[in-house]
Amino acid sequence: MRSQKVDQRAARVIHRALVLNELRRCGPLSRSQLSERTQLSPAAVSFVTADLLEEDLLIERDHHTGRGRAIPLDVNYAGHFAVGLKIMESGLEAVLTDLSLQVLATLTVTYSDHTPASVTAAAAQATAALLGGAGLPRERLGGVGLGLPGTIGPHGTCLTSYRLGWRDVPITDLISQATGVPVWADNDVNAFATAERLVGRGKHARDFLVVTLGRGIGAGLILNGELYRGGRGGAGELGHLLSEPGGRPCECGKLGCLEAYASEPSLLRQLAEAGRALPDAASFARQLPHDPAAQAITAAAGERLGRALAQTANLLDPDLIIVGGEGVRLGDTLFTPLRRALDRHLHAAGPGTLPVLIEPWGDDAWARGAAGLVTEQFFGDSTLHQPARASPA
Ligand SMILES: [Zn+2]
Repeated sequence: MRSQKVDQRAARVIHRALVLNELRRCGPLSRSQLSERTQLSPAAVSFVTADLLEEDLLIERDHHTGRGRAIPLDVNYAGHFAVGLKIMESGLEAVLTDLSLQVLATLTVTYSDHTPASVTAAAAQATAALLGGAGLPRERLGGVGLGLPGTIGPHGTCLTSYRLGWRDVPITDLISQATGVPVWADNDVNAFATAERLVGRGKHARDFLVVTLGRGIGAGLILNGELYRGGRGGAGELGHLLSEPGGRPCECGKLGCLEAYASEPSLLRQLAEAGRALPDAASFARQLPHDPAAQAITAAAGERLGRALAQTANLLDPDLIIVGGEGVRLGDTLFTPLRRALDRHLHAAGPGTLPVLIEPWGDDAWARGAAGLVTEQFFGDSTLHQPARASPA
């Protein structure tokens, strides 16, 4: 039998999450508005908001517009900080953000090998440099978020990463010990999707897909307001949906995956087969407006992506698709055939009914997504990913 004390504590956690998330989505709001919108009693709202103000997680705005219960409250985004790290083969990109994921500083650290020890040393170096540069004491940092190309287990262990050659690496523990702050990790696409859910264009949607195009092709599935990870953390492998039975070999070892046709390396490979070798994906994008062969390859990739998105949407019925990643620089050459194929194969309704929002891409977007893993902890709605150390929040 549960004691009354445990019930009260559980209720308090739920009330905090309700209030913080209502303010995140629709704030600033007065205490009366919060009570109306969350269906909590005025007394419960007063109690929770007093706690959150005391913890510096809320601030009162515009004292002139109201008194007492009419003073608008908001999340104190500027009072707490996060470090986000995007871990790659040759180095890591790091950002310092506030709770709204506004980027305050960025830096890159390179390493000669990507062993867990090298990555841990680089992560500690980046965290110290960002804090030092901003003149912030360690106590103001909510933690470090890691975005990795791979599958992450429930305790922040990297179960597998083809790209880094890692298997069962307790990376959050290693970096937490090296930095002395809590660390959370997720697949880089999931981290990006989490940022979109918390403070991005998915803030008001309940069911949506976040698709990333670039070196690989991935999807973050936000279903019923939560990131869906699947049984082993491997959900959202959009790039490994079958696009061509018996087709081109994929990085994963199978044949005919979408990624083998539409990832940036596969576009380069197809262009090289047409007799035009280019050094990297950035030069492919620059060449695109003047090169009919590159345009044909890109358009065919857009068509395949559109078909794969239609299949996914037919299964999940999302309200929205958000597309990000380096691949968005391919522009209309990719997105016009993508949209056409999506509309053609979408079961639900007529053309254009499923909005596709293309996220303008910046170099720091992956690392900013990783910082979202820290921000997520403040809103108390993450149930699966436990920190490597007790969170101070
Ligand atoms: Zn594959």
